Amino acid sequence: MIDDNVLTKLVLIVGNDHVISNEEAKLSYEIDWRGNFSGRSLIVVKPQTTHQIQQIIKVCQELSIAIIPQGGNTSLCGGGVPVNDYDKPQIILNLSLLNKILEVDTANNSITMEAGCTLANVITAADQQERYFPLSIASENNCQIGGNIATNAGGIHVIKYGMMRDLVLGLEAILPNGEIVNQLTTLRKNNTNFDLKQLFIGSEGTLGIITKAILKLYPKPEKYITGLIGIADIEQAVAILSQLQSKFSVCAFEIIHSSAQNIYNTYFPDSQFPISAKWLILFEFETASTEAEEFELETLFNIFSRLNINLNEAIIADTSNKRDNLWHIRENIPLAEKMHGYAVKHDISLPISQLESFIQSNSANILKYHPHAQIIMFGHLGDGNLHYNVQLDNQLNTKTNEAKINEIVYNDVIKHGGSISAEHGIGQLKLELYRMTSDPQSYLLAKQIKQLIDPNNILNPGKIF
Ligand SMILES: Cc1cc2nc3c(=O)[nH]c(=O)nc-3n(C[C@H](O)[C@H](O)[C@H](O)COP(=O)(O)OP(=O)(O)OC[C@H]3O[C@@H](n4cnc5c(N)ncnc54)[C@H](O)[C@@H]3O)c2cc1C
Repeated sequence: MIDDNVLTKLVLIVGNDHVISNEEAKLSYEIDWRGNFSGRSLIVVKPQTTHQIQQIIKVCQELSIAIIPQGGNTSLCGGGVPVNDYDKPQIILNLSLLNKILEVDTANNSITMEAGCTLANVITAADQQERYFPLSIASENNCQIGGNIATNAGGIHVIKYGMMRDLVLGLEAILPNGEIVNQLTTLRKNNTNFDLKQLFIGSEGTLGIITKAILKLYPKPEKYITGLIGIADIEQAVAILSQLQSKFSVCAFEIIHSSAQNIYNTYFPDSQFPISAKWLILFEFETASTEAEEFELETLFNIFSRLNINLNEAIIADTSNKRDNLWHIRENIPLAEKMHGYAVKHDISLPISQLESFIQSNSANILKYHPHAQIIMFGHLGDGNLHYNVQLDNQLNTKTNEAKINEIVYNDVIKHGGSISAEHGIGQLKLELYRMTSDPQSYLLAKQIKQLIDPNNILNPGKIF
């Protein structure tokens, strides 16, 4: 039951229409996208101004209530929902009404917005001014810029444009003591003291509430060359990537294993993969004009022929419709997986040179442990990011054996010099793993920074640490 005192105070701040206290109505905010994490909240609050957020923080500090910053709630590690059975009451601070695009500056190639704007809205606002914002993730219609910054989101264009960290020029954040840190700058060169905005990028809502941001924009690519090719192994993929990068401005290079192709084809029978192979590569590069495109296609086919790529297993999307279809297939793989049932998910990254060796040794280790295991693999090969998901013969078995599966996978990830979280973050999912695999001094320093900024631990407790 919600304490009337809290409700009254929060309603006074944001107005009756912008709080949700009904148990049933709160549910969708309390459960994460995958349905793996859920926790009760006293109330969901939807502020519309930074000043309201400052007042909410003041109330929460007074009454010792934890605040869960929430964007689009698309986190894949339980970052944006309350922790179950936490010893303090928790409220969800949903940023969706802080959603104005404030400026598109074509001279400076930057865009300024409130943090609750969806990624899709930012991409569209840039596009309307003939500019391009390159972050590309399948949750773009729901996830918000604040969430993208707080998770340092990655996606398919990291190979060319970097992670969200590389796309942020400035931001504004409210600290747990209610003070505003104004790092809102459009400057690309600014060497005055620490680059404090970096503290908030990837902090997963534990250090401050991001309320505004200024992001980099790029020229809109004129045209794309997009292709799907079948190959036999990762080594071949790495060779192709290297050749393509020496000639073209490669902006995406995805790999999809037959396991992921099969699952996708089962759940999306009306728009199946047009070809199949042990591995498929979905690549794309930007091209300046139709004349350049003709020349580049010739170069591309020369590379394919040098590398013995079977052209019967290659598709080049020569219309924007065909290109959209290919990307639509790729973007729906996570959804097909979700429909396929519970899998132990691993969002890992490895040095590209180690990918083949990791897959060989780890799949052998998993199959030794459980001969009927299925390993579903796809990912952003261009930046060494593999989604490596394990399912046993049935859902219950998969869940019961989760700890052991994780141990087998993460041991090999560490042995191969990889990371236990490539792009989704730590959230509630990987607390222990993060502690165990971090350099002890780095972990301690991170905890000390949290303690300094949020001594009462009211901001997103139970996440990261
Ligand atoms: C289908 C699908 C595909 C995806 N693909 C990718 C992908 O390719 N790459 C990738 O990196 N991720 C991907 N994700 C994960 C997810 O979309 C990203 O992590 C995204 O950046 C989260 O944004 P959000 O607004 O939904 O944040 P939420 O899920 O609401 O929150 C995520 C974290 O950010 C914090 N937070 C949110 N808003 C703020 C704010 N304003 N201030 C401070 N903290 C805040 C929360 O407390 C939480 O810790 C995918 C998710 C789905 C469902």
